[in-house]
Order: sequence, then C-alpha cells, then structure tokens
Amino acid sequence: MSEENTTKPGLLYLSATPIGNLEDMTYRSVRILGEADLIAAEDTRHSRKLLSHFDIHTPLTSYHEHNKLDKGPELVEHMLAGRTVVCISDAGLPGISDPGAHLAMLAIEAGIQVSPLPGANAALSALICSGLDTTAFTFYGFLPRTGKKRRELLERIARRPETLIFYEAPHHLKGTLGDLLKALGPHRRAVTARELTKAFEEFNRRSLGELAAYYDEHEPRGEFVIIVEGFDLNNEVEAGPKQQLTPAELVAKLEREGMGRKEAMREAAKQLGISRRDVYQALLNT
Ligand code: SAM
Repeated sequence: MSEENTTKPGLLYLSATPIGNLEDMTYRSVRILGEADLIAAEDTRHSRKLLSHFDIHTPLTSYHEHNKLDKGPELVEHMLAGRTVVCISDAGLPGISDPGAHLAMLAIEAGIQVSPLPGANAALSALICSGLDTTAFTFYGFLPRTGKKRRELLERIARRPETLIFYEAPHHLKGTLGDLLKALGPHRRAVTARELTKAFEEFNRRSLGELAAYYDEHEPRGEFVIIVEGFDLNNEVEAGPKQQLTPAELVAKLEREGMGRKEAMREAAKQLGISRRDVYQALLNT
C-alpha cells in the first residue's frame, strides 16, 4: 500500500491527464493510477489507450455526465469501504468543463479525503502564453450554446475588467468570436490558442475584430481556447456595442467625410476589425 493510501476510509484523487502530448503525464499520476483500486474514467475506451501506454492495469469503470447521479454514490461506497479511487477525464483536469466536480462534492459530504494530482489544463496553459494579464482572470469554459442565457452572460461580462477565458469547439469558433465581437467591441486584444502541446500548436494574437475576420477567411481546425483582454475601466472609448457605430453608420460617416463607397467600406472593415464581406452584408441589411 502506498504512503498516500493510509487514510481510512479510502480516498479520492482527481488526476490530470495530457491535453495532447503524452509526455505531460506526471510521474506521480502514473504511480498512483497504477496503485489505486479503481479508476473512474469519463470514457473508458479512450482512457484505456492512455493507461496501456503507461502500463497501468488498474480496473476501470465509467463515470460521466450522464451516469454521475447513479455512479457517484456507488464510487463513494467503494471509498467508504477503504478503497482508493482515481477520477480522470478525457483530457486535462477533471472537473474543469469535464466530469469530476460532482464526485468531489459527494466524497467531501461523505467525509472522504479528496486530493489533486495536478498536471495539464488547456485554459491555464493558454493563459500563461497569451501575453495578456494573468493576475486576475475568469474562466467561463463553454458559453451557453444559444439564446437568452448566452446573451445575458455576454452582457454581464462585457464590462468585467479581468482577462476572460473560454473553451470552444472548432465548428462553433466563428460563431463565438462573432458574438464576443458584438458584445465586447473589436478593439480588445484577444488570443486563440489552438492544439496546445500538439504538433500544430498555434497562438493567434490579434484584436478581437481582427481575430473574427481572420477566421472568416481561415477554417478553424482543432481544439481552441479563446482568451480576451478585460474591459479597460480607464478607457470609456473602448465602448462595447452601445457607443460603437454600426458598420452602416460608419460607412455613411466616412462617405460624408468625402470617401467613395468602396473606400469607406474598406476603412470601416479596418476600423471595426471585421471583414469587408460583413460590412457589405450589414449594408444590405439596412
Ligand atoms: N478538462 C480539460 C482541461 O482541463 O483543460 C477541458 C476539457 S473540455 C471538455 C475540452 C475543451 O478544452 C476543448 O473544446 C478546448 O476548448 C479545450 N482544449 C482541450 N485540449 C486542448 C488543446 N490541446 N488545445 C487547445 N484547447 C484545448
């Protein structure tokens, strides 16, 4: 029995697993996963590959969003009987946009010791390389997919001064950048961190408007973290949607100032940090 395994009743570890690069598995996680009585994994087929890579043969059971209400209490019973359970997700830290938090709560309520096995996490890995403020930040994970909840959240965060962190799937990236652009305006610095720790890792650091325009032209592929600079409390000009001219208003203003329509559209796209296609579309819609 390991020195970590001396407390009775048993204990619950929440272990990080790599977010792409297998070398990010820690020595300690490998040892404790090998010594534990049971591993509760989000997807047992996915985790079996990781575990066999490290020659770990501990019994596996599935624990995920859709079985947590039945499976959680069962796992707690195992721990109360003195067993050590390690909870892992498909990637990164369990409990961060992944199953794990509910099991931790159940275990704590049952008086079981809960302990972390730290390691890879996409949000913080992206943040530390973003070049944006790391002293204060809020992690939002995946935005609500659509509708009122999404709108309300975006309204609520528009004036938050700390750095904002989001997760997004590639097929929703453009939509999410578009909504962030509408809610926060085009001028803030923003970063997409793609395929972290993998062969095609890439950081794209631009203004929010430029980022949205970039992905209008380049199809997003792979996994993404989006980081956005917080609201600048000293710079009311930063605006947000209320003070900002719409594309049509800006084109009209530039025309009044003497520009031809084409030049005004090009300049409006540049100033708003959106594509010329979007300006054109906005003019059609007025
Ligand atoms: N538990 C994980 C963690 O600690 O980072 C997050 C799991 S969440 C279901 C998956 C999301 O995390 C992806 O949609 C993406 O936004 C982000 N993500 C995971 N791996 C990533 C990677 N290698 N590069 C960029 N983003 C990643």
